[in-house]
Amino acid sequence: MSDTLHRFLFKDAPVKGELVHLPKTWRDVRAYRRYPAAVEKIMGELVAASALLCANLKFDGSLVMQIHGDGPIILLVAECRADLTVRATAKLRENAVITDDMTLAQLINTNGQGRFAITLDPNNRQEGQQPYQGIVPLTGESMADILMHYMTSSEQLDTVIQLSADDDNAAGFLLQRLPDHGGGMNTEFASTWDDIAHIGRTLGADELLKNDTDTLMHRLFWEQPRDTHTTEPVQFACTCSPTKVANMITLLGEDEATDMLDDNLEVNVSCDFCGQHYMLSAAQVHELFTPEANAHLNSKLH
Ligand SMILES: [Zn+2]
Repeated sequence: MSDTLHRFLFKDAPVKGELVHLPKTWRDVRAYRRYPAAVEKIMGELVAASALLCANLKFDGSLVMQIHGDGPIILLVAECRADLTVRATAKLRENAVITDDMTLAQLINTNGQGRFAITLDPNNRQEGQQPYQGIVPLTGESMADILMHYMTSSEQLDTVIQLSADDDNAAGFLLQRLPDHGGGMNTEFASTWDDIAHIGRTLGADELLKNDTDTLMHRLFWEQPRDTHTTEPVQFACTCSPTKVANMITLLGEDEATDMLDDNLEVNVSCDFCGQHYMLSAAQVHELFTPEANAHLNSKLH
């Protein structure tokens, strides 16, 4: 099975669909750090979802799905860029006991204080432009339920989503009814949508993980005429860089940056997503706070 995102359109109804499989990408995402199985399951589903939604929006920038949990998971981030490169990381509460049978709610929303946001950050953000952020209510028992509820209620688009992840693969499936030209729902095709959506809902989590795109498309929709389709590669990639690390340290301020100097008078940081190590000497840290460096950073930030 290869790491691909398959997009398709139906002939008889304004319905689009996507199918993503990420066996290698999912391995690469976890190459730097592994997490308990229950955490990895949610993380894999979130990675697959980020690819589905990013491709669905055809938006030139990054889509970031971020969960601030109040339980054993403090932070869970999955990010997908327009070129379909993804990365993800998680931060767990210290000494948290995590068992395989823990539910999504137990892991991220123990006290009902969990927060889930989807941010769209355009590549060429204009001066003063804020990235778009949607708040996703944690309504539903699975990640797929939560996102389906969000798409259907907030975005007003009938959507079917299935997500699944295990040790070997992370996969996702999406069907969406397209608005007609007036922006509303096309009633003429309602029964066709119902048929297609019904078939989509029969796709089991295990079936999605274990079968490739061709097999699943044939098995599910052999009776539904389909229009165009595309298949694109998806892969893991991290966007960290020495410049981004320097900017991050600059934003902390000189006092905090100085506090980060260790016994060897170095600041050592590792990327949370890929583990890439960055080292700055005391002189390099000092240099970040010269007036020239500040002017340079300000011109980049604004
Ligand atoms: Zn990195």
